[in-house]
Amino acid sequence: MIIAANLKTNLTRKATHKYMQELDSCVQKSSQEVIVFPAISSLDAYKTDITVGAQNAYPVEKGAFTGEIGLEHLTEFGIKTILIGHSERRHILGESQEFIAEKFHYFKEQGFRIIYCVGEPLAVRESSKEEMLAYLYQQYEGIDTQYENLIIAYEPVWAIGTGKIPTLEDIADIHSELKKKSSAPLLYGGSVKVNNVKDILQVENVDGVLVGSAALYADHFCSMIQAA
Ligand code: PGA
Repeated sequence: MIIAANLKTNLTRKATHKYMQELDSCVQKSSQEVIVFPAISSLDAYKTDITVGAQNAYPVEKGAFTGEIGLEHLTEFGIKTILIGHSERRHILGESQEFIAEKFHYFKEQGFRIIYCVGEPLAVRESSKEEMLAYLYQQYEGIDTQYENLIIAYEPVWAIGTGKIPTLEDIADIHSELKKKSSAPLLYGGSVKVNNVKDILQVENVDGVLVGSAALYADHFCSMIQAA
């Protein structure tokens, strides 16, 4: 099982270091693989038993891309894991599928482990299953679904940060459809909490979870790791 935390634009560098310190002893006692995606300012929060990944980077080594970080910045901290296609980058930051695919290929070429996110907004969820799957499959366009260092995260947009989750049957159904597209490990994300993580992880074809808000406190996240 892969248990990943996306800290988004939360926790300062100082707070992240404390967080990783607290998490470290918890992770040492666990057999799960734990990945933390801290804010850019905390990419040095390295701990031997916890993989640190980047929430985002620009697909270049370095250059004139104001406000972005590139490969060189990740390499300085030994970062070899990256999150690509998160719904906040698609919908708030306006990243197109084309650009997301460009990022994917760049970091694939660099041998990065890629956690690639797909998910549908509420209006799509409320349409037919065919339309929903077609929407999700569009997010596989330009992506090498056979890449050996790929992990996919299914995160319904309407479940992210809302406290709403699909039923376990729905998760099982969508995960089995998505597995037809790629046999890569498939995480579920969107309102995963201490009280639902165990049930979600027992669903067929769920290979782990990607957690946002409930992972912001090390003790909460630790309880989730222990429940896994
Ligand atoms: P959430 O976020 O756990 O707060 O719903 C999940 C995510 O965005 O990855």
